[in-house]
Amino acid sequence: MSKKFQAMRGTRDILPGEVEKWQTVEKVAAMISERYGYREIRTPHFEATDLFARGVGETTDVVQKEMYTFPDRKGRSLTLRPEGTAGVVRAVIEAGLAKPDRLHKLWYWGPMFRYDRPQAGRYRQFYQWGAEVIGTANPWADVEIIVLLAEYLEELGLTDLVIKLNSVGDATCRPIYQKKVREALASRRDELCPDCRERLEKNPLRVLDCKVPGCREIVKGVPSVLDSLCEDCREHLDEVKKGLDASGLTYEMDPGLVRGLDYYTRTAFEIHHGKLGAQSAVGGGGRYDGLFKILGGPEVPAVGFSMGVERVLIALQEEGRDVFHQTPLVYLARGANLSDEAFRLARELRRRFAIQLEYAEKSLGAQLRQADRLGATAVLILGEDEMAAGEITVKDLKSGDQRRMPRADLQDELARLLSEPAASRSHT
Ligand SMILES: [Zn+2]
Ligand SMILES: [Zn+2]
Repeated sequence: MSKKFQAMRGTRDILPGEVEKWQTVEKVAAMISERYGYREIRTPHFEATDLFARGVGETTDVVQKEMYTFPDRKGRSLTLRPEGTAGVVRAVIEAGLAKPDRLHKLWYWGPMFRYDRPQAGRYRQFYQWGAEVIGTANPWADVEIIVLLAEYLEELGLTDLVIKLNSVGDATCRPIYQKKVREALASRRDELCPDCRERLEKNPLRVLDCKVPGCREIVKGVPSVLDSLCEDCREHLDEVKKGLDASGLTYEMDPGLVRGLDYYTRTAFEIHHGKLGAQSAVGGGGRYDGLFKILGGPEVPAVGFSMGVERVLIALQEEGRDVFHQTPLVYLARGANLSDEAFRLARELRRRFAIQLEYAEKSLGAQLRQADRLGATAVLILGEDEMAAGEITVKDLKSGDQRRMPRADLQDELARLLSEPAASRSHT
């Protein structure tokens, strides 16, 4: 027997029946992005390894432990993108579009890759939707980014959502806060996990983000970053809060929400879902005013988010929201020796409707059973009688109603039948 292949660990197939949910959540993301004035950008799935080492941060777990890095045939080190922002920033710089005061509002959607331990809802190839506002330090851009993500989740029908907000300061006030964190943790250094002992030297804010229970307990005693913000950062945060209030969003301040790298500035946020358990964030982001400079561009402020598509699908399932969307199907059944006519009619109807019919001739009974199996909304019957009279029989499978009509009336009848609520979109 020859070898049987399987999808690689941490990857999965999305088969028909499930893929319609994916199509819906992607379609809604595209729609909401457009409504907010964002345009799509598509960047390659692999980039130079250095881009992520610098753009995601050498000291992060993502870069140190989780990247899919490999040499190509010329020995260049390439990496499958572990996230979307670094590629977007590189693309904007490369296209010569990174200019102070020139605004770009971009969104992306696609697979990301991390060599992580696979568990429920976490895959090595996973999908993200993200958006970036590039070219402004205005706090209303931060507000819009948060509102955009919240709007999307609400549009899908999710309710059990909590927005968490924080500020991580800037180059003026963060060094002072880092010093406070070091001092507060100095006496308990030995109780921290090995990673955190190292972080304490290089990047003390990341200790606040550690998931190890022992560390979480210890950092409770650390003073809040909110008490260390400089005047400008304080004002920025107040404006963001004001904007969220004006947008009708409720949020919690969470001083433990940190993004520990130097190019992150001010706003940090996450949106959590109540039924996702310990790792409950469906998405998050913040301001990254220092990143363009680090990636070789001019100094351009920016803010953005990314969202885990698998997480959102789990949250939808947990809330019993069915976003299954399938174009209503019409099954065309035919009598003996009417294949020519049936395929001609199908081609005509397929300009407007989803039509299914058999390749081979089958009995009417077999065709009707197949229509049922496919979950068709309506069946058209083209028999010898109908053919001779220039008519067709239309059967509504939901109500069971059946009537014969002139072929000329068919398109209007189908349009009416398929536009009824039962057959239309279900995600709102
Ligand atoms: Zn730790
Ligand atoms: Zn500051």
